Amino acid sequence: MSAAPQLRAAILIVSTTAANDPSADASEATLRQVFEAEGGKWDVAEAAIVPDATTRIQRQLKRWSKGAGKVNLIVTTGGTGFAQGDDTPEAVSEILDRPAPGLVHAMLSASLAVTPFAMMSRPVAGVLNETVIITLPGSQGARENLEAVIKTLPHACLKRPAQTLELSTLAESSDWRPKPGYHHKAGAAVQPHHHHPHSHSHGHGHGHGHGGLVRHTKPGSEHLSNDPSLGPSRRQRASPYPMLDVPDALALIEEHTPRPKTVTSAVNTQLVGSILAQDVVARENVPAFRASIVDGYAVVVPSDGNMKGTYPVTAISHAAPGEAKPLKLGEIARITTGAPLPEGATSVIMVEDTVLKSMTDDGSEEREVELLADGVKEDENIREVGSDIKQGTKIMSKGEKISGVGGELGLLAAVGVAEVETYSRPVVGVLSTGDEIVEHDKPGNLRLGEVRDTNRITLLSAVRQWGFEAVDLGIARDKPGTLEQVLRDGFRRVDVIITTGGVSMGELDLLKPTIERALGGTVHFGRRTVKPIFSLPGNPASALVTFHLFVLPSLHHLSGQSPAGVPSVPVTLSHDFPLDKGRPEYHRACVSVGRDGLLSASSTGGQRSSKVGSMKTANALLCMPKGEGPLRTGHVVQALLIAPIQPL
Ligand code: AMP
Ligand code: MG
Repeated sequence: MSAAPQLRAAILIVSTTAANDPSADASEATLRQVFEAEGGKWDVAEAAIVPDATTRIQRQLKRWSKGAGKVNLIVTTGGTGFAQGDDTPEAVSEILDRPAPGLVHAMLSASLAVTPFAMMSRPVAGVLNETVIITLPGSQGARENLEAVIKTLPHACLKRPAQTLELSTLAESSDWRPKPGYHHKAGAAVQPHHHHPHSHSHGHGHGHGHGGLVRHTKPGSEHLSNDPSLGPSRRQRASPYPMLDVPDALALIEEHTPRPKTVTSAVNTQLVGSILAQDVVARENVPAFRASIVDGYAVVVPSDGNMKGTYPVTAISHAAPGEAKPLKLGEIARITTGAPLPEGATSVIMVEDTVLKSMTDDGSEEREVELLADGVKEDENIREVGSDIKQGTKIMSKGEKISGVGGELGLLAAVGVAEVETYSRPVVGVLSTGDEIVEHDKPGNLRLGEVRDTNRITLLSAVRQWGFEAVDLGIARDKPGTLEQVLRDGFRRVDVIITTGGVSMGELDLLKPTIERALGGTVHFGRRTVKPIFSLPGNPASALVTFHLFVLPSLHHLSGQSPAGVPSVPVTLSHDFPLDKGRPEYHRACVSVGRDGLLSASSTGGQRSSKVGSMKTANALLCMPKGEGPLRTGHVVQALLIAPIQPL
């Protein structure tokens, strides 16, 4: 997947001295270093110096938070102390739309850990339009303050639409009782509230804008979702959730997915798809005894290596437990492939290098055999003890997967490992929502408005295909109480819930309200176990695409699998592909390998998100950039592989 697009930052130096003599300023360079240390996440697009004057500060901040050249983040430095003319906090607070006390708290506690003089700074933070603004102290302490929050800032910065998808939220599950006042208290040391993996999707062809947060719920309510009790006339008409791009969403999903749990499992075929939670050491040598590699005769090699001549067959060693009679110089023992060498034997002559000389009287057994070999060395045709695998050596590592091909199970079996520690695999519940949804196999014709449940069977199958247990949670109706009850019951049975539908902007789209209001979702406090819930779009193609993009990585994190998510490979377009002007897209495609060994991709056809047929035969999602006009035949793009590649 492509790297996260850069966030734009601006640095505003507030200092009358520096405004008169820019060479007096050292903080711009210092702060640039902090941004650069984030490995390309930030582009410091703007920097300016203004004197300690409220109007000058405000004018610059407004300019940088509006229009085409606007930035995601502004840091000011200077003017936050107690001296005359230290007016930056006041200048900034006056124009902020929304304060962000969590950022202030984080900055203060970081710099207080360095010096008590941090008390002498009066920082503020908040959002103007969609730009996050924080005030850093002057040169002293500016660096620590910025470093204290910079890792979290990308999540606080609301960005422009980056992709078509809607993803989920995480519900806290260990305590289901609604907790009045669970939400963040101003100034408490919690994450900024708008810090959860919601994004809002736009289906193809309808583009409602992303205005600022329209708040109909009562002041002080911390929920972003609609309050279902207010009805359609008071719902929000544009999504209040910050639009995330895919890499940021995946980072949040990883952050909020519970760590994998370890279990002890018997080594059997149930283990296929599991990830080892331990290094595994060979309990035994393979082979456990000196064994013949061929069918032939075990011999004691004389010092000259010449074995030509006729020998009595004095013993037999079959591939079976038990010891053969020891062998002396001048005797040979018939031996089969894989059988243990008799004591005293030093080499094995292949049956092809021998001639039968005489038999027992009843003709049932060999008495004498002529060997046709000279130049025989010791240890020929013998597998030494531990020559395949030495006892005590590491045969598998933590994090490796037990594949269904059998290689790993075979290895564990060979060395006598009967139990291993693995990461437990989550059980995944799949729930459809919507009053219009009926069982897919409902006999007869549909009534007006009814829709056959496409998503549940699709997702149950996809979950199982990727090696996880899937539980059918049925269909929930669009009633707040019903949905809540179904989700609560569901979480008693499963570790992760995937729902589809109910995440659009209609007044009956209850998933977010229910998760936030009834289940206490999106709040990540304390160290309780959380169980993730992914609320995917209702449109079948979108549901399956978002499953692969967002749910699968979480299932992989939960089960200790790394790298998480579907693998990505470069492929060549075998025809022109249309692009969307406004946003990057995941184009459903069929990737095949040609006789030249190169991978090529063709579209599965119309990509409208309701078009379920576009997933049939798709084995890849092509990462298409946004753009005018088509991407031409021969162009190379990344393909996320959701199923095996077939030959052309
Ligand atoms: P919603 O997110 O509930 O607004 O649903 C968006 C679209 O997806 C609507 O046309 C729904 O009827 C459709 N839809 C929702 N769930 C399913 C499902 N399980 N199977 C097929 N279509 C669905
Ligand atoms: Mg619906």
